[in-house]
Amino acid sequence: MFCRNCGKELTGSPEICINCGAKPMAGTSFCHGCGAPTTPLAEICIKCGARVAKALAGDISPKSRLATTLLAFFLGIFGAHRFYLGKIGTAIVMLLLGIAGLATIWLFVGDIFLIAVGIWAFVDFIVAVVGRMRDKEGKLIEKW
Ligand SMILES: [Zn+2]
Ligand SMILES: [Zn+2]
Repeated sequence: MFCRNCGKELTGSPEICINCGAKPMAGTSFCHGCGAPTTPLAEICIKCGARVAKALAGDISPKSRLATTLLAFFLGIFGAHRFYLGKIGTAIVMLLLGIAGLATIWLFVGDIFLIAVGIWAFVDFIVAVVGRMRDKEGKLIEKW
C-alpha cells in the first residue's frame, strides 16, 4: 500500500507510516492503492479506481473480516458469523433454521430450511468477502 499522507510505498499495512509517522490511511493526499495524488474530496482514485473516500475510524469494526468470512462459509447455516458479530437475534434464527433443517433432513421440510438458511449464509458470505458486512453496532467489517 501507499501512505495516504506522504505517498510513500509501504510494505504490508503498517499502523504507522515509517516515512511521515502518520497513520497511513488517515491522510487524504495520496491514493493507498497506486500512490497517485488525491484530493480530500475525492471519492475514488481516478488513476486506479480505488475507493479513497475517508471511512471514518468509528465506522470500522475491530472484528476480523477473515473470521467473519470463514465462519459464514463453514458454519454459516448455524449463524456462527452472526454470533461472532454480536447479531444474536438473527444468529439464533439461523441456528434454529440450520438445526431444524438437519434434524428433519429425512423429511422434505428439512430441505426447505437448509436451502433457506444456506442461501442466507451464502449471501452473508459474499457481503463479508466484499467488506460490506456490519456488526451489531453498524460498523463495517473491513479489516482482514
Ligand atoms: Zn507517510
Ligand atoms: Zn489509485
